[in-house]
Amino acid sequence: MGIKVLTIAEQKDGKLSPVSLELLTAAAKSGGEIMTAVLADTADGLASELASRGGGTVLSVSHPNLKYFNDEVYAKILTELIKKYQPNLVLGAATFYGKALLSRLAAINDGAMASDITALETAGDTVSITRPSYGGNVIVNVAGKAGKTMFATVRPKIFEESAAGTGEVVVEQFDTTLFESRTEIKEMVGSTGQTVSLNEADIIVGIGRGIRGPENLDLARKLADALNAGLAASRAIVDAGWIEYSHQVGQTGKTVNPKLYFAIGISGAIQHLVGMQTSKTIVAINRDKDAPIFSIASYGIVGDLFEIVPALTEKFKAHA
Ligand SMILES: Cc1cc2nc3c(=O)[nH]c(=O)nc-3n(C[C@H](O)[C@H](O)[C@H](O)COP(=O)(O)OP(=O)(O)OC[C@H]3O[C@@H](n4cnc5c(N)ncnc54)[C@H](O)[C@@H]3O)c2cc1C
Repeated sequence: MGIKVLTIAEQKDGKLSPVSLELLTAAAKSGGEIMTAVLADTADGLASELASRGGGTVLSVSHPNLKYFNDEVYAKILTELIKKYQPNLVLGAATFYGKALLSRLAAINDGAMASDITALETAGDTVSITRPSYGGNVIVNVAGKAGKTMFATVRPKIFEESAAGTGEVVVEQFDTTLFESRTEIKEMVGSTGQTVSLNEADIIVGIGRGIRGPENLDLARKLADALNAGLAASRAIVDAGWIEYSHQVGQTGKTVNPKLYFAIGISGAIQHLVGMQTSKTIVAINRDKDAPIFSIASYGIVGDLFEIVPALTEKFKAHA
């Protein structure tokens, strides 16, 4: 007997996040029956899109209080759907929102929780997942326990977006009391200075203490703009107050997995590497030929970033 997999789509400003479509590919790998939950103030359009991309039975829930992510309300609604549809596996995105939501759901529903997974397999109704542990130094395989629902967050950019597939939309309705919350979200304001989300970026420009001061950050921003890339930072320059924490990559920042990561003026401390070492291609620019970053770089440029970065920016602009 195959398993039932429920994926939880993520939306922002009424648009599906790309990772929602990656979750469908992850779910398809399980070989099980796919269901997708989408919660928004007006969810039906998003639900139709998910259905045409292989979302299976797409459970569409609309209410004004679902406009912004609120883990208290989202968890109440999703728990009702879990009780009704009894999935063996619930998949969400390993994003700021997904991590908060899935761990809450696992606790409420007495399930098993696995964060940040990179692969999954099923045999009968047993689910096995793979996830990095100890800062990516160990890869762990975990099998779910019979009779327990497994909840997992999937690392963005590991699976391809599902391009096409079949599905049907089922509109779900709940008592209005379920949408009540102890908090009211009035507005979501994006952090300043970041136009491309690090979780979704195919290219990331990462900058470290080699930049010498906040007055020089525009150098990295220009390169990021030329490549339509996200701007990341080491903790050293976040702690120095040169850039906001939302840019930090590493053990105490974000984990990213882009196609291309530029590490510029970053030494390559292990705490930084654990946040970006799974990037498909890494280009390191550092004036110290012995900098540890070169040990994981696909391409290394030894030299002064103040000469190399503007030259690269001009080249990329010329080919844009
Ligand atoms: C518990 C804990 C958690 C941590 N979490 C994180 C984390 O999440 N993320 C993180 O990044 N760090 C984290 N750190 C800090 C980490 O250990 C390093 O201190 C930090 O990553 C160093 O940042 P950096 O590479 O920018 O600076 P540095 O190590 O000072 O490196 C600067 C680099 O710039 C190069 N450079 C200087 N001038 C130039 C130039 N003109 N041209 C080219 N290259 C140049 C230098 O050769 C050097 O390699 C954590 C530490 C601890 C203890």
